Amino acid sequence: MRIRAAYVPRANTLTVNTVELEPPQEAELLIRMKAAGVCHSDLHTLKGELRTKPPLVLGHEGAGIVEALGPGVTRFQPGDRVLINWLPSCHVCPTCQAGHENICERLFNTTFMGTMLDGASRLHGLNGEYIKQYLSSATMAEYAVVPEDGAIHLHDDVPFDVGAIIGCAVITGVGAVINTAKVIPGSRAAVIGCGGIGLSAMQGCVLAGCAEIIAVDVLEEKLAFAQRMGATATVNARAEDPVKALKRLTDGGPEYIFDSVGSAQTIPQALNAAGPAGTATIIGLHAALEEVPVAPGQLIYQNKRLLGSFAGEMTPLHDLPRLQKLYLAGRLELDKLITRHYPLDDVAQAFEDMENGKVARGVLIFD
Ligand SMILES: [Zn+2]
Ligand SMILES: [Zn+2]
Repeated sequence: MRIRAAYVPRANTLTVNTVELEPPQEAELLIRMKAAGVCHSDLHTLKGELRTKPPLVLGHEGAGIVEALGPGVTRFQPGDRVLINWLPSCHVCPTCQAGHENICERLFNTTFMGTMLDGASRLHGLNGEYIKQYLSSATMAEYAVVPEDGAIHLHDDVPFDVGAIIGCAVITGVGAVINTAKVIPGSRAAVIGCGGIGLSAMQGCVLAGCAEIIAVDVLEEKLAFAQRMGATATVNARAEDPVKALKRLTDGGPEYIFDSVGSAQTIPQALNAAGPAGTATIIGLHAALEEVPVAPGQLIYQNKRLLGSFAGEMTPLHDLPRLQKLYLAGRLELDKLITRHYPLDDVAQAFEDMENGKVARGVLIFD
């Protein structure tokens, strides 16, 4: 079928174009998209900065309605509401069996390369050009074909736009707090970077019962979002040294720091600012392909811990329903996280607004 999609023919070139989508094959679903979150990973990929290189259709956060089934699908029926899980793990490799489904061995040769689980893509250009499916999903399109494990049932009372961000931004931030750092109630925490993931980490800190949550960013607009999402204090890192500010505000450094930026500048800051025996958890991907200097003495003499957290260390079939329940119980304020909706044709504007700090999270809406 012919669909309209956010198509990137080469790095730094974003178009909204008509492409061809093949029907779902064995254990795959065709989904009519209702909402697609706009994530920094999409932007990094658009710029050619991550592992999955163009040509591709962007998007990995999404929610929609199952339109058709490939053979052998057991968990879904046409008409089911679903959210996209961009980590369709195999459940049986040694890594999955050890409880780390977010880094399942199968994903590295398939999903992270922009293909389905058989190594092929269901997308191509109108003249047969090869087009990848970003993270086995490609949700910035009217329809998407995803693996059966690339979808999770969406509760009737969770809106599509909220469902769209649960599968990436929300679990990445909340999971870093709950699953990776395992924050203890009453702790003091700081979050560097107040985009969708940083704000989700703040929601995670609220959920975990942190006594103080300090937001760090360079844009006042984003610090204002942070104050609405649970921050008890803010630091503008352009106006003052964030390490000194965090140490001053907490009399020695917070117990937990979450770095949602992950740049060569912020990673050492996160480690330095953590208090004695504190934990710095790196979430963001800005320096994913760079070398970053770390002083071992910071770790050893102060019993500090430096952790990495990918996709909130989620076990999708466990964590994504759990986040929906927390949202429905009013424990996660995800409506506040979505500050703007866009039609597919305005996807370039959505990326621009994200880069300029104009939105907490932007979501594309399909009618
Ligand atoms: Zn994402
Ligand atoms: Zn696996």
